[in-house]
Amino acid sequence: MEMSFTPEQIAFRQEVRAWIRSAMPPRVREKADVDGAFDQSEVMEWHKVLYRKGWIAPHWPKEYGGPGLDATSRFILVEELELAGTPHLSPFGLAMVGPLLMQYGTDAQKKRFLPKILSGEEVWCQGYSEPNAGSDLASLKLRAEDDGKGHFVLNGQKTWTTYAQYADWIFCLCRTDPNARKQEGISFVLVDMKTPGVTAKPFLTTGGTPAFSETFFENAVVPKENLVGPLHGGWTVAKALLGHERTTIAAVGQSSRQIRRIKRIAAQTMANGKSLLEDPGFRAKIARLEVRFRALQIANYRALASAQLGHAPGPEASILKIRGSEILQQCLELGMELMGHDALAWFNEPGVVPANEQWVASSFNYTRATTIYGGTNEIQKNVIAKLILSLPSR
Ligand SMILES: Cc1cc2nc3c(=O)[nH]c(=O)nc-3n(C[C@H](O)[C@H](O)[C@H](O)COP(=O)(O)OP(=O)(O)OC[C@H]3O[C@@H](n4cnc5c(N)ncnc54)[C@H](O)[C@@H]3O)c2cc1C
Repeated sequence: MEMSFTPEQIAFRQEVRAWIRSAMPPRVREKADVDGAFDQSEVMEWHKVLYRKGWIAPHWPKEYGGPGLDATSRFILVEELELAGTPHLSPFGLAMVGPLLMQYGTDAQKKRFLPKILSGEEVWCQGYSEPNAGSDLASLKLRAEDDGKGHFVLNGQKTWTTYAQYADWIFCLCRTDPNARKQEGISFVLVDMKTPGVTAKPFLTTGGTPAFSETFFENAVVPKENLVGPLHGGWTVAKALLGHERTTIAAVGQSSRQIRRIKRIAAQTMANGKSLLEDPGFRAKIARLEVRFRALQIANYRALASAQLGHAPGPEASILKIRGSEILQQCLELGMELMGHDALAWFNEPGVVPANEQWVASSFNYTRATTIYGGTNEIQKNVIAKLILSLPSR
């Protein structure tokens, strides 16, 4: 298996790196340099810069406006964006519902939705989870009833809807046949957030950001043309969506950036006349983390080499998810240890937290979620037990 980069790929990496430096708006670059948190307007500003360059959707085929990059170039582009600390783009349109519409959407749906996802004119969110349907997603209850006049009428609730308060559209799993067996009566429906009866109520996370909303549907009337895939066939569509764009699941770029940030802070933190980066105990901790990180990076390259040969990512993506999320958490744990008592100030109070340590504590808090979202790590272990180790289920 070939795991080194070709001269062309190395040149592409340099081109991407140089372009990112020159294209970042000044405020975005300032925050990126200290790995700061971006607000929604900065995320969308960066979205538009990438859109103008033609790099907003590295994995989209050319016919839908993608740059037509191969798997390795896509990986390089995404990794360089993460390494540069640029804003994280919302995945819900670009990485989820966009590719899904290419696969299951009607021509009219593709024409209506794809260009606005690319340009950032319309922002999406994901309505899967409900108060009693997370890991056991097929228990979902949001009801979509056919009114016999060309509409579904939606009643119920979604929860954990990331950034629903900024979204123009939500893709929802709804129950269209309450009498069918659990996974069989579900449909995949696109809902305009401005529909009367749809309300997003944001709530704060311990990371200090209003990252989620609870989303309520009260007699919300949605045209039936917004159904994607077959009626009652939403479970298959939902699973296909989760399979899209899994090469970033290991969050290698994010961890790499965090390790760099830890080293930078350690080099600037003095104890007994020396920087913490010179302290043998602290150096050993960083080295241990880097060894684990390097192993993850190599495992990710193996998955990439396989994708380059046209193999779809299989259950091994669960291994990358588990290790990637754990290592990212360990990076921030070490960052908190490094900060000492400064880490008690969660919300970047000026004058309390030194400038170079801003956002470590809030990132630490938010990163607790990496082992939960995208399928919890326990569920990933079930996948590995069943599909890789062939262990019998109890
Ligand atoms: C940061 C973040 C962002 C999110 N964004 C969205 C979003 O935009 N849209 C959306 O729809 N959802 C979103 N979610 C929801 C997320 O998908 C769910 O939190 C996740 O699927 C787990 O469901 P749950 O919270 O109901 O926990 P539960 O499913 O109730 O699980 C509770 C615990 O039990 C364990 N467990 C459950 N079943 C099993 C089992 N069979 N075997 C072993 N252990 C098990 C779990 O691993 C977990 O530790 C987000 C969550 C987070 C944290």
